[in-house]
Amino acid sequence: MPRTLVTGGAGFIGSHLCDKLLSLGHHVICVDNLSTGKIDNIAHIRDERFLFIKQDVTNYLYIEGPLDYILHFASPASPIDYLERPIPTLKVGSLGTHKALGLALEKRARLLLASTSEIYGDPLVHPQREDYWGNVNPIGPRGVYDEAKRFAEAMTMGYQRFHKLETRIVRIFNTYGPRMRLHDGRVVPNFIRQALAGEPLTIYGDGTQTRSFCYVSDLVDGIIKLLLSDEPEPVNLGNPAEITIMQFAEAILRLSGADVPIVHEPLPVDDPRKRKPDISKAKRILGWEPKVGLDEGITQTIAYFASRLESDPELKHKHD
Ligand code: UDP
Repeated sequence: MPRTLVTGGAGFIGSHLCDKLLSLGHHVICVDNLSTGKIDNIAHIRDERFLFIKQDVTNYLYIEGPLDYILHFASPASPIDYLERPIPTLKVGSLGTHKALGLALEKRARLLLASTSEIYGDPLVHPQREDYWGNVNPIGPRGVYDEAKRFAEAMTMGYQRFHKLETRIVRIFNTYGPRMRLHDGRVVPNFIRQALAGEPLTIYGDGTQTRSFCYVSDLVDGIIKLLLSDEPEPVNLGNPAEITIMQFAEAILRLSGADVPIVHEPLPVDDPRKRKPDISKAKRILGWEPKVGLDEGITQTIAYFASRLESDPELKHKHD
């Protein structure tokens, strides 16, 4: 049975990957420093094939014994998180990726890098295809994440070309679902938390900016397909159903039944105007496309947040 390391394995996407890999029969080692990950996300796993190590992959990464796969998912990933942690974000994307690649080389493991639609910046090409190089402001507040991930892609390709390491790169577009943090600052938990608390939904700017939201189970299926594929170059994974943030707010009101107003707040610096993945490459080479529509996925996510708030009402205000 394969032995697989997931860095950032206690995070939102990382923990769903740990579940999926265990269900596929892998032995899973999860490394996380719990800066934005949470032990709650993996507390349900009672399996002797699962090992958790609390460690910052920026500083050091070594695992005893053989490894077949490394999924490198450690990084703050919401705009608020990386604005609050600019240096750790830069370090985990650069130094942490270097450590993960070095370990993969030592073990001759295949490494899959979690990259992001942020590498396209505020895109001038729409929808975004993998051959678009992006429009990124390196010195803006989002630059710490965007450039770290661009560097991580460059270093991954360097190891692939120079060391002949087997690598895969997934560019993840906006993904949502259970285990997002209520206060991670992204639009999905913000709107759902506000709706459940009877507070106004905060739209940044006029709400005409667009995003395309992918449910986490679809994303995880695509990641596993990419991991097991022969594709050495980046592949976009996301849901191409594009909507404006205003339409998204209306969907949250409809699906939650909340009767709260919408208020407008200033648009953050360098907030991308639009974002939508071109997933024709994933369809072609992985036979993958998302299956879960927005209504279904948001309903599941609302149920998750509602149950968390029910078991701990203080969470509404706690910075969890
Ligand atoms: N946004 C919003 N209200 C919020 C949080 C976010 O209108 O309470 C907007 C944000 O400005 C952006 C979009 O929703 O245009 C998606 O933001 P998010 O932080 O989820 O992720 P991004 O796609 O920008 O990385």
